[in-house]
Amino acid sequence: MTKPRLVLYIIVIAALLAGERTLPLAADRVASPASEDAVDSQAFLRSHMTPAGPPASASAAAVEKLLAQMNLKEKVGQMTQLTIETIVDGKDQDIHLNPEKLHKAIAEYGAGSILNVYDQALPLEKWHEIQRAIQAEAKSTRLQIPVLYGIDSIHGTTYVEGGTLFPQPLAMAATWNPELMLRGSQISAAETRKAGIPWAFSPVLDVGRQPLWPRLYETFGEDTYLATVMGVAAVRGYEGDDISSPTHVSSSLKHYIGYSYPTTGGDRSPALIPESTLREYFLPTFAAAIQAGAHTVMVNSAEVNGIPGHVNGYLLKTVLRDELGFQGVVVSDWQDIERLVTAHHIVATEKEATRLAILAGIDMSMVPLDYRFSDLLLELVQEGQVPEARINEAVRRILTLKYQLGLFSDPLRGSEASTKLATPESRRASLTAAQESITLLKNENRTLPLAKSARVLVTGPDAGSLIPLNNGWSYTWQGNKASAYPTQGYATIVDAIRQKIGADHVTYVPGASYDKETDIAQATEAATAANVDAIVVCLGEWAYAETPGNIADLALPDAQIHLAQKMIESGKPVILVLTEGRPRLIRPIADSTRAIVMAYNPGNEGGQAIADILFGDVNPSGKLPITYPRYANMLFTYDHKALEGDYEENAALFAPQFEFGYGLSYTNFAYSDLQVMMTPGVTSGDQRIQVEVTVKNTGDRAGKEVLELFADEQAASIAPPLKRLKRFAKILLQPGESTRYVFSLHKEDLSFINAENKSVIEPGLFDVQIGGLKQTFAWK
Ligand code: BGC
Repeated sequence: MTKPRLVLYIIVIAALLAGERTLPLAADRVASPASEDAVDSQAFLRSHMTPAGPPASASAAAVEKLLAQMNLKEKVGQMTQLTIETIVDGKDQDIHLNPEKLHKAIAEYGAGSILNVYDQALPLEKWHEIQRAIQAEAKSTRLQIPVLYGIDSIHGTTYVEGGTLFPQPLAMAATWNPELMLRGSQISAAETRKAGIPWAFSPVLDVGRQPLWPRLYETFGEDTYLATVMGVAAVRGYEGDDISSPTHVSSSLKHYIGYSYPTTGGDRSPALIPESTLREYFLPTFAAAIQAGAHTVMVNSAEVNGIPGHVNGYLLKTVLRDELGFQGVVVSDWQDIERLVTAHHIVATEKEATRLAILAGIDMSMVPLDYRFSDLLLELVQEGQVPEARINEAVRRILTLKYQLGLFSDPLRGSEASTKLATPESRRASLTAAQESITLLKNENRTLPLAKSARVLVTGPDAGSLIPLNNGWSYTWQGNKASAYPTQGYATIVDAIRQKIGADHVTYVPGASYDKETDIAQATEAATAANVDAIVVCLGEWAYAETPGNIADLALPDAQIHLAQKMIESGKPVILVLTEGRPRLIRPIADSTRAIVMAYNPGNEGGQAIADILFGDVNPSGKLPITYPRYANMLFTYDHKALEGDYEENAALFAPQFEFGYGLSYTNFAYSDLQVMMTPGVTSGDQRIQVEVTVKNTGDRAGKEVLELFADEQAASIAPPLKRLKRFAKILLQPGESTRYVFSLHKEDLSFINAENKSVIEPGLFDVQIGGLKQTFAWK
């Protein structure tokens, strides 16, 4: 192990945490991070980096004792994860455990873990019945080792009927409010554990820098720092102070690493990422979440630089274990050992694939449909091709996790807890998150908010269904099964508008489906009717997850563009509402719509939240966590380089529809007096860079503003990006109120990964930008 590297990471993270926010100076009013009126990214990180207990050492003796009693078959069993499909008969809510299949999985093969749902959210009672039977089967075995159940709680309690669904992670990032992410994952953890499930395959810490990628909505967007803060919030919410608590679960950081940046944009397709880029943009989210105590990591199904994630020993051992100090369980993704043969073609046989993956560092294989992995691994160890010491290492980690989760004392822990699903408080938390995520991208002539006396035509494929509000991982994997959604209690966009202004003020004509024209003529007729003052056009995507969500074209389908164009032709003000998991191009209609509202996938409360924004009950405060492209062939992130859009003839290259960090409010904020000063430390290396700015609400209503601090070096040995986000704070300001906000940067904030893949600080001139203001300072 390269100890100096580990030490360097600890120093960097400690410094990140130390770069604290100092108190505002001459503020008209103090915006303290502890108050509900201000959330500061760095203060949040600092106070939430305490790993969850109990520590691995607490169960070390018990684990060793158990391990010493296990035979090889039992050990290999622990490393095997099967999907629920292998132990049930029937489908959807009619599934029932098949005793023979259950016996084979747990008693004969000793499977250590089961995952998923098949393929519909189940009521609590059904989950309890299933979990009880699985754990009873485990109890009947020689060593009575409990089974570890895992599930994809991607945006809330995905697979438990009646659970709370939150905005998808991309929308959570658009809130720029980690407190909301923390609360969301706390609720999701408690509800998931209430079903008797102690392990959530979440959060996705792949940084979303490829807009075509069908899993973009599962990420916290394109910026590494924003994704790091949100990722830590998610982990801390899931894991709490103690993962054995009946209201917390183990998180799983996924998908380590480089999965989100496929060249083609297609899911599970290869990426080419130089190591310096991997370390600069993709590693920090994982590093911080590990420091925050995350107990498991799931591996990238695809390949980086030609090497599949599941055989990349350098990334799985040298980087993950030695450098980042990760001590928990590494689980494969779906079928990914088998896919080393069938998809990646790096070996000819599954046996060799199994050997390579286990030696590279996979502790548990999500097999998940058959027993070949267990049989082959057993053979490999018996033949001496995989040392038993490696098996012991993996099993030790798995048993430790089971102890830490409290499964040995109560394998159904949480199922008896007083947790209730989707309580009014949980639904309010989801609603608040949706409201704070929605991002106002255009508001010509103050078209929004609409008067509640307005008469509106609501049209578009996404207006009348909960499906596009939620997207994938909602009741079912693809999230597109209408019958799986609640039939009452949650409003679609059109329902919520009707509730807001009265059904008699609302005309609704869908006009088009996702990619087909349906009744555009009828919508056009309605648009020109005298009783319509404004048109709300709800466009975007339908639901998808993973590979089925691949697209060949980022543009919105023609049918939707045509519908919007017909609405624009009516001459009535058109308000475009987008519900989508990735930024589908809207160039043909963007300039002629009066207002554009980006709602991402805001979850089950999203219809309500959208209506609250449209009619002014809530002042929008979301900011884009991604760059919204204008052209399909100009897919740049905001942190691009001068030659990608600033320098001479290349300046035209970066012309996004809307830039990362952008978002309007119904009030206005004015920035002034940006100052940068060095604050002396005990040693010169201890110096802080204090950045102060005044921000004033110059409008006539209260609003939340996100202060975004960007910094960049003017010249560096690796061509530097034009700017990088280093800090942010979301603050509430009353009309006329101003505050002097102070951020504090530490020297590590000036570092970057150089050509030798080392984190370095090169002395020179740095630019700091906030709210359109810029100051330069020198670091010597
Ligand atoms: C996905 C993972 C997920 C797993 C289990 C895989 O196909 O890539 O994100 O956790 O399935 O459902």
